[in-house]
Amino acid sequence: MIIGIPKEIKNNENRVALPPSGVFDLTNRGHKVLVEKDAGKGSAISDDEYIEAGATIIEKAEDVWAAEMVMKVKEPLQEEYKYFRKGLLLFTYLHLAANKPLTEALIENGVNAIAYENVQPADNTLPLLAPMSEIAGRMAAQIGANYLERINGGKGILLSGVPGVRRGNVVVIGGGVVGLNAAKIAVGLGANVTILDVSVARLKELDIIFGNSVQTMMSNSFNIQGCLKTADLVIGAVLIPGHKAPTLVTKEMVTVMPDHSVVVDVAIDQGGIFETEDRVTTHDDPTYVKEGVVHYAVANMPGAVPQTATYALSNSTMAYANILANNPLEKVLADNLAIRRGVNTFNGKLTLEAVAKDLAMDY
Ligand code: NAD
Repeated sequence: MIIGIPKEIKNNENRVALPPSGVFDLTNRGHKVLVEKDAGKGSAISDDEYIEAGATIIEKAEDVWAAEMVMKVKEPLQEEYKYFRKGLLLFTYLHLAANKPLTEALIENGVNAIAYENVQPADNTLPLLAPMSEIAGRMAAQIGANYLERINGGKGILLSGVPGVRRGNVVVIGGGVVGLNAAKIAVGLGANVTILDVSVARLKELDIIFGNSVQTMMSNSFNIQGCLKTADLVIGAVLIPGHKAPTLVTKEMVTVMPDHSVVVDVAIDQGGIFETEDRVTTHDDPTYVKEGVVHYAVANMPGAVPQTATYALSNSTMAYANILANNPLEKVLADNLAIRRGVNTFNGKLTLEAVAKDLAMDY
């Protein structure tokens, strides 16, 4: 199979879908890998390193997109829709529930699109979302700590406090992979950490993992509002797989937060959990202030730590890329539940019920 690795074009997206080790693996199995010139630059990987691993370096994006399977990191942007064509196999993050134009473009052009975030084996884990959630969760606590500094628009609170002065209060809404990792770093920074989740089973697991170093709490409007009153930093970490994120924090609830508190909504890639979020931001201009509260709403947080994220992503995607490259797609979809669940559009049709519901489209 011919596999294309385009250079990412999203704002400050420095990751690349495959490092040289992935190229080496695929070319050793007889596949041809086309890597766009400078695709690895942001992750400190040179074209020469790709060539050594067996790749062919290609000057123009359109020639890379001509491959049978295109592997990316972020969802295609409007400038890339022109490369869509019938039968193209696209393997990347998509987050379609928050993106109708992309959904329509994939359907109209007959792209067979498999979303990393929906690949789901029988154990219901999300193995291709998890590595980026680990990274974004860990980043969320350190980014929040940074924005809490007065010079960055925050209250001017040091999360650890000092002897005789209170610690910062960090509230994590959603205790999955992002939430656990955010809490881990926030606890490490010395904050008072509360994690809310709707799953009692998950709250029990978090209690076992963290012991007395966090407070776990059932996620409901009453408890969320109570926590917001004393929160310094709130981290959004909720996911209902495939669906747009639910609005759990209304505008009225944000108004109870003290001025200069900070929100880092990691779930913004699925639309975000705060009603006050009217846009997704970029690494160039990551925050805005609503109701006196600093909102950080970057949808590609791991793009800022490419020398960690590129490798963490491909550590997980490579096993699936090999299956897709080594077998006819029909056989893969018949035999492999995890990949079948990841298909978002196929043969000109939307195939994911959750996305169809959220976007009010046929599937
Ligand atoms: P996950 O499935 O591991 O965890 C989600 C958690 O949310 C689960 O524990 C679930 O029980 C909980 N939940 C569901 N409804 C809830 C509610 N009403 N209140 C509280 N908790 C609730 O998902 P994850 O991997 O942690 O991902 C979380 C979000 O972060 C996703 O939208 C994911 O795409 C996103 N993400 C964003 C970035 C970024 O750069 N912004 C990077 C990675 C992941």
